[in-house]
Amino acid sequence: MTREPAEPLRLDYLIRAGSVHSMTGETYRSVGVRGPEIAAVSAEPEGLDDLAGAGTAVVDAGDLTLLPAFADSHEHLMEASRSMLLVPVGEARSVAEFTGMVADAARDAAPGAWIVTSIGWHESNLAENRLPTLAELDAAAPDHPVLARRGGHLAVVNSAALRAAGIGPETPDPPGGKIGRLADGGRDGVLEGGAVYQVAAFAPGPGRAQLAAALGTTSAAYAALGVGTIREAMINLEELLAYQDAAGRDLLRVRVRPMIRVGAELTEDAAIALIDGLGARSGFGDDRLRIWGLKFVLDGGVEGAALEQPYASDPGNCGHLNWDPAAMTRVCAEAARRGWRIGTHAVGDRAVRALLDVYEAVAAQVGPLPPWTLVIEHGLLAGPAQRQRAVRGGFGVTVQHPILWNMASEMLLTWGPERTRRVSPLDQWLAAGADLAAGTDLVRPFNPMTNVWGMVTRGTKSAGIQGPEHAIGVATALELYTMGTAALNHEQDRLGSITPGKLADLVGYPLDPLTAAPDDLAGLTPAFTIMGGRATHDPDKRLAR
Ligand SMILES: [Zn+2]
Repeated sequence: MTREPAEPLRLDYLIRAGSVHSMTGETYRSVGVRGPEIAAVSAEPEGLDDLAGAGTAVVDAGDLTLLPAFADSHEHLMEASRSMLLVPVGEARSVAEFTGMVADAARDAAPGAWIVTSIGWHESNLAENRLPTLAELDAAAPDHPVLARRGGHLAVVNSAALRAAGIGPETPDPPGGKIGRLADGGRDGVLEGGAVYQVAAFAPGPGRAQLAAALGTTSAAYAALGVGTIREAMINLEELLAYQDAAGRDLLRVRVRPMIRVGAELTEDAAIALIDGLGARSGFGDDRLRIWGLKFVLDGGVEGAALEQPYASDPGNCGHLNWDPAAMTRVCAEAARRGWRIGTHAVGDRAVRALLDVYEAVAAQVGPLPPWTLVIEHGLLAGPAQRQRAVRGGFGVTVQHPILWNMASEMLLTWGPERTRRVSPLDQWLAAGADLAAGTDLVRPFNPMTNVWGMVTRGTKSAGIQGPEHAIGVATALELYTMGTAALNHEQDRLGSITPGKLADLVGYPLDPLTAAPDDLAGLTPAFTIMGGRATHDPDKRLAR
């Protein structure tokens, strides 16, 4: 009996680059891709030539630097896609423009239909630097309920929306939420925390087919900025189905690792029943779409964050916790026993302290858990003692410089300058030995290289440099944004570096970020992006076969 000779390894792509930063310490000059995977690497530009055959596309990218595609540890791709289908008030520059867009949408809408705005807006971008009022929204759309959610924790609505949600003068605040009032006791239309969801539940969303198509468009926009993976920071089960539809129709241009929301408005038993009813656990899915875990939200954002010391702008206010720590401990322990990973939004120092209490209690009850099972999302104002506890407990932290970049002006007003400059001190976290993974949380495609520039300079959009002493180096920033997120997603063996056997998620840049001046990174965009051996961004057809 004779053996067939082994099939010779023939590459689909042979890419020769100026340099290839593997993220494992080595630098190469050529990368070979076969199917969805990296098949070979070489320190020589011609080192893989004998693996090329008639079907191999040879890409001469000697002018480019190759990196692993970026992996965003915390971003709301679903919300960004949903926003695409909503009134784009993020483009308004005054209250009149904002309400004008609402009035236009109401004019085009069916009688009584909800008018829902995108959530990607902030009053600091409006000339008046304030929220639109209930009266202004009433004037713009007297006969349509209007829901203007701003980010994840606040919304402004009109009278018709309050009526549609059954909210009157006597309605109590929901757990973890606040329905705002005017001085005269009437409603002011401002909703916080759980109250946002209480009203949003009445606003019908777009259909699944529409959402799936929007995910295709939005994911392509992230891919065009060099992103290969997004850990989706909060969805419900209907939205998970939309993701499955998008994956099934081959529309997703980034890998997605969703987190399923466990809402603070649920009772303990209802939360445990929801988790039981999922019928799966963390890790279910495939390389394209794999469930990361569960998402809890323990406090608010810049306004609602639970602080140890009062707000600079409101000395009587220390923010709020959405969960009773004992209830959350019980729900999280049940989830961890069932094989679920948990990520919890905690922004203020008081929220991080409460979350560490919860996670330590869960670990004590359930037993040792692998790294990146219980995760702190943001931890913006964590102090030194909390950093030590997070490291000791093995609780990793997802960090997002773009929150500071975007919100520093608001933080200076609400938290004051001392707290703002120590938001997310990556140098301190790293010095303490923490596991970190970098991301954005901006609810819109954000250039990862602008994020890298921010981590390296502590630069912000409109408040200059904040806490330059907390900057980190470019190589470390890139590592947190590739290997860091791969570890967070429990797939270091599949993604995060340019290593044979790993998935071929690559991005090519016209500058080498490791030698470029930091300010040249802020606007640097990729020449191409590859996900799983397929071009997801290739405007100059450099990868054409
Ligand atoms: Zn988020």
